[in-house]
Amino acid sequence: MKSIYNFSAGPSMLPTCVLKQMQQELLVYGNAKASVMEISHRGPDFMQLAHKLEQDLRDLMSIPKNYKVLFLQGGASSQFSMVPINLLQGKTKANYANTGHWSKKAITEAQRYCKVNICTDSTDNNYTDIADFSAWNIDNNAAYLHYTPNETIAGLEFDYIPKVDMPLVIDMSSSILSHQIDVSKFGIIYAGAQKNIGISGVTIVIIRDDLIGKAMKNQPILFDYATQAKNDSMYNTPTTFAWYVASIVLEWLKKQGGLKTIEKINKNKAKKLYDTIDNSNYYTNLVAKRYRSRMNVPFLLADEKLNSLFLKQASDNNLIALKGHRSVGGMRASIYNAMPEEGIDSLIQFMHKFEKENG
Ligand SMILES: *Cc1c(COP(=O)(O)O)cnc(C)c1O
Repeated sequence: MKSIYNFSAGPSMLPTCVLKQMQQELLVYGNAKASVMEISHRGPDFMQLAHKLEQDLRDLMSIPKNYKVLFLQGGASSQFSMVPINLLQGKTKANYANTGHWSKKAITEAQRYCKVNICTDSTDNNYTDIADFSAWNIDNNAAYLHYTPNETIAGLEFDYIPKVDMPLVIDMSSSILSHQIDVSKFGIIYAGAQKNIGISGVTIVIIRDDLIGKAMKNQPILFDYATQAKNDSMYNTPTTFAWYVASIVLEWLKKQGGLKTIEKINKNKAKKLYDTIDNSNYYTNLVAKRYRSRMNVPFLLADEKLNSLFLKQASDNNLIALKGHRSVGGMRASIYNAMPEEGIDSLIQFMHKFEKENG
């Protein structure tokens, strides 16, 4: 079978070897005499999986001891509520950077709980640029600063970390595990799994110990980080299959050489694709060069009437899910960890051919 390269923004492609392992283990998981979907989350086989999952994530991201790692449900969107519920801690304001679609959703939800100070706003440039941190308007009486290091839809990625005297909270759904970060700089790092970790269903939250335990009263008990931390994310039945898939992906990442290696590969993949766009008179990417995402690469064709022809011919060439988000138009190639360099090469080859025939 010829390889198919899936550029979906999420749920997104998994490494082929991960899918094969799942297929092999589907009916019987290890010594469990049942599939991983059919066993108790409190039994020895699943407990072992859970421990290894957490340890592998700690190893890969060098997570310090004073951070808890939680595996929750509800997607990254659940964190739009959990963050204010847990971190306001008596304060009435929070800082939010508005750099894209996902920032905006987080802001809308936070406004149900507090006054949101929008400390920087990229609306005017259509989410194609980020202001220098010196130009941000931080409210120092606010409880925390929330931002989205990689905006999945516009393909806009921070290349700096804001410096503030309050907890930094980041929605890392589309860039977690794509490069090394210093976890100790953040209060909370959260991410839904379906982009760079595994499948939808599990949401990873990495949270500094001292931020846990001061949630608002009268909120759902599941939305209190303390409930989840005390119960090792098993206050209720976890999304066991999603944990299982994440555990295989992390093993695969370790085998690749960890985040240092994957970061190098990702940089190279993104560079090849942006170079192709920049060196052509047919394709354009509108994002300020400094903030171009290494995970999500939107691009426009010179003639947007040819969008559907591009998509059809791409698909005929086994390059799928390249349609851009409706708010941006054109194409978007999401090139997470699982996208091999050959997939990028194949896309580039197709882009050249399409340009030649239609440019
Ligand atoms: C996909 C995405 C989300 C939404 O995740 P859900 O799991 O669907 O809630 C939130 N933030 C970012 C940055 C995303 O890419």
